[in-house]
Formats: sequence, structure tokens, C-alpha cells
Amino acid sequence: MLELLLIACLASPVGMVIEEPPKHEAAKVEHPKPEKKRPSVAVPEEPPTAKEKAAPVPKSTPKPKPAPPAIDTKRLAEAEARAKRLTSENAKLQEALARKELPTGGEIRNPAEALAELREGNRRFVEGHRIRSLLASQDPDLRQTLTKGQAPFAVIVTCSDSRLMDNYIFDQELGRLFTIREAGNCPDTQGVASVEYAVEHLGSKVVVVLGHTACGAIKAVAEANGKPLPGNLWSFQAAMSGLLETTHEDPNETAAEHLRHLERNNAVRQAQVVLDRSEIVRHLVSIGKVKVLPAVYDLATGQVLFLELPKPAKAGESAHH
Ligand SMILES: [Zn+2]
Repeated sequence: MLELLLIACLASPVGMVIEEPPKHEAAKVEHPKPEKKRPSVAVPEEPPTAKEKAAPVPKSTPKPKPAPPAIDTKRLAEAEARAKRLTSENAKLQEALARKELPTGGEIRNPAEALAELREGNRRFVEGHRIRSLLASQDPDLRQTLTKGQAPFAVIVTCSDSRLMDNYIFDQELGRLFTIREAGNCPDTQGVASVEYAVEHLGSKVVVVLGHTACGAIKAVAEANGKPLPGNLWSFQAAMSGLLETTHEDPNETAAEHLRHLERNNAVRQAQVVLDRSEIVRHLVSIGKVKVLPAVYDLATGQVLFLELPKPAKAGESAHH
């Protein structure tokens, strides 16, 4: 609580340190002051206030002040360090605003910095130390700022699974991530078009195709084993065409282990799909402005495992053929 309080205090949207804690927090911190409840004027039976004030106070020994709560100095130091970093980031944000630049993501200049920011945000999430996605005190100002435009530094192509929320997973506030979600994280034409819009018009620096453990869409495709799924679900099979055939099956592995291999392979293959289907993305990758990479999110640990795309053997050759 103290830690959150510190962060909330130091992370004001204008980069200023707010000296006073929020009222509800202050109430918790203050020592309890014994005070007689004043009678309501609507209750005639009660003695009048003046009389009550004049009444002799029974003599008693003064109540000892409660001992101050023990402070975990390590956590406090960590919270202070984070708050300091955040205050500095907020100051930069304000400077950018003063120059009438786009509000967020502007400090990230290339794919390496974008990836580093995602890794760092995921580390905070895994450790239970989210910062950027916790700054509720900034919400109104941030919304106003973002009406001027957006500059999301990363595109996340991920699954619709309710257990994934990329803003939490990478600890990023509004305006930082451009997200495309489809069960099985298989981008269709509109999905690829959305990626193109983000990298071409919004300046996103990295495209992460994020699969996850225990993916129901992949499991359904694997279990159907070629037999058509009902309704429109067949389209998952079409989008993952070739996945089962290209995932090596080890006779010693369990079904769960095999599913993990499928999930990784699918993330790699779908990242390749983005490249194969988009000349715009391929061009930006070739000149080093954008990086496309697959990744898998672990539901249990919260950790994102970043993977690499295999190096293309020949120009134009795709991995999923
Ligand atoms: Zn899924």
C-alpha cells in the first residue's frame, strides 16, 4: 500500500511530486483521534452540543500512540526508484507536449528500443510491479492528450483469449500498443491491413505475434486432426493450415508438451504470415525500421518468451508453404 501510495504520489501527470497523499490514504495513516460523536440536531433526546462540551471529561490516562508500522526498507527503496524513473518519464512527456509532439511512444526510436520496453514492461508484470498500467491518477489528462493523436510503439497480434491483456502483460498505458486480436492469433487480411496501418501511418517499431499456452483454438485444430470443425470454426483450420504437419511430434512427449510445441510453431508461422502477406511490412523490415517477431505468453508465470523468425533461405520464400 505504501508502495502504491508513493508511486501514485510521485507519478503525477505533470511530472510534479504531489506532497499530500489522497484523502482515503491519509485517513489510514493518521493516528486515530478519540472524539465523541456529536449529537444530531434532529434527535431532541440528546443533550445540546454546548452542554455536552461543557460536561466534565472523565479523567483517564492518555491513550498511548500506536507504534508506527514497520517499514520494509527494501521495498520502499524499490518503490522510490520506480517512482523516480516514472517522474522522469512524465517530465519527458510534458516536454513533448509542450513541443506539441505526439504524446506517447515518441521516446522509442527503433525496434531495439521498442523490444526493450516490452521486455521491461513484461518483467514488471511478472514481478507484480506494474507501473504504467496502474497510473489511474493520470487517466483524465492522458485521455485529453491522446485526443491529439496516437503513436503506439508496438503492434501486438494476439489471441482473443480472455486471460490475455496486452496492456497488462507489457505494462503499458493507453496509446502505447496497437492490438489485433483473433482467436489463435492468426491475422486475416484485415489483421494484416491493421498491422500495415500501424507501421506505416502510426510509426510502430515492432510487431509481436503473441501466442499463449493452453490456447483453445490451437487445441481444437489439433484435436480435430483434419476433420472439419463446425460453423465458422473451420477458418481456424484454414489459417493454421500446415501447422500440424510442420510440428515435430516426439513419441516421448506428453500431449501438453506437444501443445506447447504447436503454440510456439503457430506464433512463428503467423509472424511469417504477416511478412509474407505484406509488402509494406517487408520493406520496413528490410530497411531496419520495423522488426517482426513471434512470442509466446505463459498463462501461469505471466512471462513472454520472445522467439526469432528463421532466417529466410531465399528471397520471397515463406516458412508456411
Ligand atoms: Zn488462444
